[in-house]
Amino acid sequence: MRTAPTILHLDMDAFYASAEQAAKPSLRGKAVIVGGLGPRGVVATCSYEARVFGVHSAMPMAQARRLAPNAAYLVPRFGLYREISEQVMGLLRELSPLVEPLSLDEAFVDLEAGQTAWDAESARLTGVKLRGDIRAVTGLTGSVGLAASKMLAKIASEEAKPDGLVLIEPGTERELLAPMSVRTLPGVGPATGDHLRRAGITTVGEIAEAGEDELVRLLGKAHGVALYAMALAHDVRPVVAERDTKSVSVEDTYDVDIHDRVRVRMEVQRLADRCVRRLRGAHLSGRTIVLKVRRYDFSTLTRSETLRGPTDDPAVVREAAARLLESVDTTGGVRLLGVGVSGLADYTQEDLFAQARTAAAAASAEELEQAEQEEAEEAVEEPVPPAERRWHAGHDVRHAEFGHGWVQGSGLGRVTVRFETPGSLPGRVRTFRSDDPLLEGAEPLPLVERRPGDVGSSAAGGEG
Ligand SMILES: [Mg+2]
Repeated sequence: MRTAPTILHLDMDAFYASAEQAAKPSLRGKAVIVGGLGPRGVVATCSYEARVFGVHSAMPMAQARRLAPNAAYLVPRFGLYREISEQVMGLLRELSPLVEPLSLDEAFVDLEAGQTAWDAESARLTGVKLRGDIRAVTGLTGSVGLAASKMLAKIASEEAKPDGLVLIEPGTERELLAPMSVRTLPGVGPATGDHLRRAGITTVGEIAEAGEDELVRLLGKAHGVALYAMALAHDVRPVVAERDTKSVSVEDTYDVDIHDRVRVRMEVQRLADRCVRRLRGAHLSGRTIVLKVRRYDFSTLTRSETLRGPTDDPAVVREAAARLLESVDTTGGVRLLGVGVSGLADYTQEDLFAQARTAAAAASAEELEQAEQEEAEEAVEEPVPPAERRWHAGHDVRHAEFGHGWVQGSGLGRVTVRFETPGSLPGRVRTFRSDDPLLEGAEPLPLVERRPGDVGSSAAGGEG
């Protein structure tokens, strides 16, 4: 194990909910709950103001509504979250080539490998600067944990929440862990927790005291040995760079749930083609085809199939994706589809000429852009099915007369819109008929205004 706290764990604070609060001035300081709003929906993220009522992620939405009836309930906007995530991951990659994302808003970074930190002092400074940069670029806060291992870095960021930084000095780990619940350790869920409790073990310190033999007797060889090691703060798992586990994938969220099976099949084919274009643009091929389906109730399924060898053949990917779709029930409607390829092999060989590589990268970026353009055109040409217009709570809209806003609620042929933008004051609410021709869906606005040069603009009192 390393002797300096140079593994960093970043976790954005209440990510989806914070992004929504940044986008919607009227929700700042309020209880905001983001998730599936259907009968079987669950909470994806909630703001700290909502946690006060006992709401937490993965809770059934119906229960959340009972606990916090006056909270704002919003449908997630993954396009926006992904954009912010890319900004954050970009900042992390400036610190080190070894960045291991765990989700859109969470990642490990090996600062030592990036030579950005070598001791506690430099690690802390790096963490402080990173938090400031994230704030400046995204307008959101993230918490940072620093330690000599992944396990402790993650525990540290949890302790740091919200909007903080905790550094665990190497050598103090066991003392720090001892009073903590066994559930703090990775891999200890409710079942293992109960099992240990029945044996009189509730804290990490008690695991260490029980000894390895007792743990193995209780939990079996593999789990027992691993858990005992973790209780002693032994964790030598390396930070694994993203590209080693990378996949190429594309997905689409639909404004109106798709019910028609033929249309679902067609969308999957289109996504397969797009995915292959992206794969080829990056000079990659892959063995495992992945299909992702998010249904009307927000339940998400992934199905995958591994081929005998890597491919970048659109026909092969299309067929595999179609086969995978056959095993998925889509009768209730589909709100998101995705196709991905993982298990990637690099086509480009070790490259002696850096310039050649840069040129190739530029070319492929152009290819990608062109492909996206073509897609956009395709999308325009495609006849829009005459479906009932559905306004999702929280999604952005534009009204020809009143400008940019977001859907606060809808039903009974009406839609309520609050007209405000990330940089505005809290806005007014207006109600329209849901088929109002002046109202249309809109793209999310950037949370942080980009001010080129800032010349001549009298800075409107934003936060520093
Ligand atoms: Mg988070």
